[in-house]
Amino acid sequence: MERINEARQALLEVSVNLKREKIPVEKAYGRVLAERIMAEMAVPPFRRSAYDGYAIRSEDIREASRKNPVTLKVTERIPAGSIGKHPVTKGTAARIMTGAKVPEGADIVVKHEDTCFTDTEVRFFMSAPGGNIAEPGEDVKQGICLMEPGKVIGAADAAVIAGQGMGQVRVFRKPVVGIVSTGSELVRRGKHLPEGMVYDTNPMLLAGYMQSHGMIPREWEIVPDDMEMLSDSILRALAAHDMVITTGGVSAGDFDYVPKAMERIGAIVLFHGLPFKPGGAMLAAVKDGKVILGLSGNPGAAAVGMLYVGLPYMKKLCGRSSIHLTKAQAVLSEPFGKSSRGIRILRGSARIQEGRLMFDQMENQRNGAVWSMMGCSLLGEVPAGNAGLLAGETINVYFI
Ligand code: AMP
Ligand code: MG
Repeated sequence: MERINEARQALLEVSVNLKREKIPVEKAYGRVLAERIMAEMAVPPFRRSAYDGYAIRSEDIREASRKNPVTLKVTERIPAGSIGKHPVTKGTAARIMTGAKVPEGADIVVKHEDTCFTDTEVRFFMSAPGGNIAEPGEDVKQGICLMEPGKVIGAADAAVIAGQGMGQVRVFRKPVVGIVSTGSELVRRGKHLPEGMVYDTNPMLLAGYMQSHGMIPREWEIVPDDMEMLSDSILRALAAHDMVITTGGVSAGDFDYVPKAMERIGAIVLFHGLPFKPGGAMLAAVKDGKVILGLSGNPGAAAVGMLYVGLPYMKKLCGRSSIHLTKAQAVLSEPFGKSSRGIRILRGSARIQEGRLMFDQMENQRNGAVWSMMGCSLLGEVPAGNAGLLAGETINVYFI
């Protein structure tokens, strides 16, 4: 655990160069806020009526009852968006609509259904308890800080920003992440598949997670297992993106050139090899202030490595202030039979049963199974040095 936390921390220590842009508020949903939003004005900005009814002085109807109703003179009608012409004085009432500014002199609004009225008169049968008036700032108080930079803008956030009258908001530019696939056996989709070759699927898998976390993935190139070509491709990818992710060629095989390519291009390696499965063969390096994350080629391993170790840094690269993995405890619904020396990461999905968060393992936990990632919403953490787990045992899980 220690080494994995250190690896995440090493990535987080790489300073990020955040760029900002201004966009229309209606496009801001899901983007990361890059400015502090202060309440320049109160919402609502004036005393407004919460109902259709009559704005009056509560004093005037204090004695009203079924037996002795009180009749007031209606002086005007105030639709929402209009301002009354007269203050409400003793013995008068203004017919008022929901959302309209309550005229001077009135301290309550009585719903019209609680009265009897004509165009010129309104009758009350009881004194009124409540105000039915929204005071200025009832929703948003003037002068308070509404949002800090780094927040992901949700539906209500965008509405609160619009409620301040802002048409545009400053957000962080989405980082663009280049994905390099390495492996002489890889063929691009849509092309003929010769014997012994496989389709290149990792960019699709990783790109989906990147997009859901607010990044722009860019499929860069498929590079054969060739030191020179790989180094060259990574260098060009670095120049064109905010971060580069490679998959494949990161272990200790004869043709695993990613570690050597890091040396060749002069990148500083932060870590290589972490004690978890699948995906622990990964490395991270820095060159020109940009991070290169070298992931295993196995789809399951690539996804686990990126999310379990790389995601906090990637969130930081988006400008987010909350970057840590969302952790919870879940109950295993099925046993996990395998013993493991290091940490084992299970792919699974979340389910609530009798108020408890359940972890349902994916059927196929093999490293190479991209299928095992379908519908996967949780990574479950089996602690190191485990002889297997029983159904009903609790494990740490991370939402991805
Ligand atoms: P490697 O990490 O290069 O040893 O690759 C491990 C396994 O993952 C091999 O079976 C590769 O064929 C497979 N693999 C590597 N890269 C990809 C990719 N981009 N898409 C699908 N499978 C891959
Ligand atoms: Mg390979």
